[in-house]
Amino acid sequence: MFKLAGESPSDGGKIEEVWDRAALPCLLMQWLHDPISEDEIVRLLAERPERFGVSEDGLRREIEAALLLGPCIPETSAVKLRPRVHRFLRGLAHFWRCTNPDCGKLLGENIEECDECESRALPLAI
Ligand SMILES: [Zn+2]
Repeated sequence: MFKLAGESPSDGGKIEEVWDRAALPCLLMQWLHDPISEDEIVRLLAERPERFGVSEDGLRREIEAALLLGPCIPETSAVKLRPRVHRFLRGLAHFWRCTNPDCGKLLGENIEECDECESRALPLAI
């Protein structure tokens, strides 16, 4: 946190005080009012004069560090960054299905023969 805020731990102060003084948490709260991608956040941060010349990777690491740290800052902080992250997972993986159209039973992974009709089963693609 101290590095994010451009301060030294030897300067003293509680982590939430350092967090509240840093610009990035406030900027993230403003920018994340509506959902945007991480690429868009990097672009917005790159437009800040104080970030001129910082590599895209450096900006991305800074943003990711703040997004990870924000929810861990004590509740006493004035700047509450509680991002919602959407993660997309492919559901129903590892199911197999009987290829007999009159059966179509769902089966567990790697069960190659239907136990109802003895037809061939294949991995279910969704
Ligand atoms: Zn079957």
